[in-house]
Amino acid sequence: MSIRLQTDGSSSELLRFDLHTHSVHSDGTTTPSEISQLAASLGLAGFALTDHDTTEGWEEARAAASAAGLAFLPGMEITTLHEGRSTHLLAYGLDPSHEDLNIALARVRESRVGRAREMVRRLGVDYDIVWETVNAEGSARTVGRPHIADALVTAGYFADRTAAFADVLRPGSPYYLPTYAIDTVEAIRMVRDAGGVAVLAHPAAGRHRRAVDLSALATLVDAGLWGIELDHPENRSEWIPVLAEFADAHGLQVTGASDYHGAGKANLLGEHTSSAAIWEAIRGQVAVPS
Ligand code: AMP
Ligand code: FE
Ligand code: FE
Ligand code: ZN
Repeated sequence: MSIRLQTDGSSSELLRFDLHTHSVHSDGTTTPSEISQLAASLGLAGFALTDHDTTEGWEEARAAASAAGLAFLPGMEITTLHEGRSTHLLAYGLDPSHEDLNIALARVRESRVGRAREMVRRLGVDYDIVWETVNAEGSARTVGRPHIADALVTAGYFADRTAAFADVLRPGSPYYLPTYAIDTVEAIRMVRDAGGVAVLAHPAAGRHRRAVDLSALATLVDAGLWGIELDHPENRSEWIPVLAEFADAHGLQVTGASDYHGAGKANLLGEHTSSAAIWEAIRGQVAVPS
């Protein structure tokens, strides 16, 4: 659906859109319908569902958004690797049946299961957790460290996901393992080929020791990157100006979003958002705009 016209005389400049949310189909704790209801109650004009490596929640989100009178943009956050750095790539409006992309995403999800199983096996030596608890919902969602964190929290070892991430789940921990990730340039190529738009997620997130390298970013621009998610709760403020300048110089769009994970993370839905201009610019060029 298109953006609602305000009847109270306010302009579309006031409409806000959250372009980055996770549901129970990956590592969020709320359903797409619950995200939609919350978005409506917060007065957002629309949202994108961007679960990790899956389009599973699109149909429910689309129906719920329509029922709530919200605009919806289908999306995904793809697990990629660029020059040795874990790189999350947001993809919007892509054809979900693109064959090469689906093969690559299936490989990512399968690798995630094997990696999580092995991390749980390692953890099980010292902590009383088993794979059956972590994977209680079967393989119906993209499995990640947050699900291992939940098992550790349920067993009483940590207060919340964040505490588990700061300890046993962090890279460098003896229990940590990396997972297979798609080469970022290749992922951008496939997203574009599938009629989607690619945006680099949280390029200055504090979990990295440094912001994304500018020459590495230039490679992604050459590959067809459309934008960078600069307005994000985890981006470190000291790294933002240089990235903003880079975006300006290279014609990159700048987006904003919350990266909402329900109760799984402190990020609040709608705490960072994008404008109607960004929303329409994406929807105007993608294969699946709603
Ligand atoms: P993985 O993709 O399995 O390596 O797990 C990384 C995911 O864990 C990220 O996409 C975040 O959604 C989530 N995550 C990272 N740090 C935290 C944290 N401190 N608390 C909760 N979730 C986190
Ligand atoms: Fe996540
Ligand atoms: Fe991410
Ligand atoms: Zn995310």
